[in-house]
Amino acid sequence: MKRKISKKLNIFSAICLQITLNIGVALFTSRKVESLATNNLLQENNLVDPQQVSMSNIGKFKLIYDSNTKYQDLQYIFQKTGLFSLVVKDLNQLNLNLPVDIPIIFRDCGQANAWFNPSNHNIVMCYELFGDIFNSLSSVYSTDEELITNSITTLTFILYHEVGHALTDTLDLAVTGKEEDAVDDFAAILLLQENNDQLDAIVYNASLYFKSHSDSTYWDEHSFGKQRFVNIVCLLYGRDPQKYAAIPHKFNLGTRIKRCPGEYQQKLSSWQRLLAPHSIYDLPTNRKPGSRDEITW
Ligand SMILES: [Zn+2]
Repeated sequence: MKRKISKKLNIFSAICLQITLNIGVALFTSRKVESLATNNLLQENNLVDPQQVSMSNIGKFKLIYDSNTKYQDLQYIFQKTGLFSLVVKDLNQLNLNLPVDIPIIFRDCGQANAWFNPSNHNIVMCYELFGDIFNSLSSVYSTDEELITNSITTLTFILYHEVGHALTDTLDLAVTGKEEDAVDDFAAILLLQENNDQLDAIVYNASLYFKSHSDSTYWDEHSFGKQRFVNIVCLLYGRDPQKYAAIPHKFNLGTRIKRCPGEYQQKLSSWQRLLAPHSIYDLPTNRKPGSRDEITW
């Protein structure tokens, strides 16, 4: 039976959430996600001086809470916890040379959805998504506190998924295969590379959320919910098969499970290589000729 979201999320839950989420968000700042995007080799060899890079023309991710009357309580909690402020701060610490600002707008959409709009570079995160995730995870978490907290943090995965679309479009990244799968990979890799239990939990919760949505039609640009679940949980297992040895016992991933460690390494490496040329440390004007590896087909 589905539990109902309390009509009024009171101050007490906001404080509890703040404490819980502060633990999680501290991790975002303690280990920067920039390692995914930065060409470490260039930095290690001092091929460019970051101080010399002009930041004035570089786009930023910007967080906006649209005014709304229906989800004021949720907006209050999102703002109070500061989770998404820190997520956005860390997205900017990816140090990517974005050609435009990318506003991330939380708003009342009338539907449980999120999307990236290429025409204005906006990412829209609908408040309704929270309720959808809440319902999906209601059988997983026994206390309301756990359920609410995990429902909020799982939104981070959805946000990173949309950021993957935004980067693909604005940086004109190469995509072969389904973009939807590729940006699921991006979201999972961004969280998993931190090797942190709370961030791993976000990936796990997101996989369960997609597992509960298995109603896609065969022509849809998204994979079926259960396929998205397997792709994501495979990366979780693949990053650390010993730590997550229980996964193949809990879920039947068939023969796919053997490929997961290799898939994780391949996808991590692929996204690093896709983003490295767009790091502010590797702007064309600062690049020394011959500093790149030869590309061999
Ligand atoms: Zn998508």
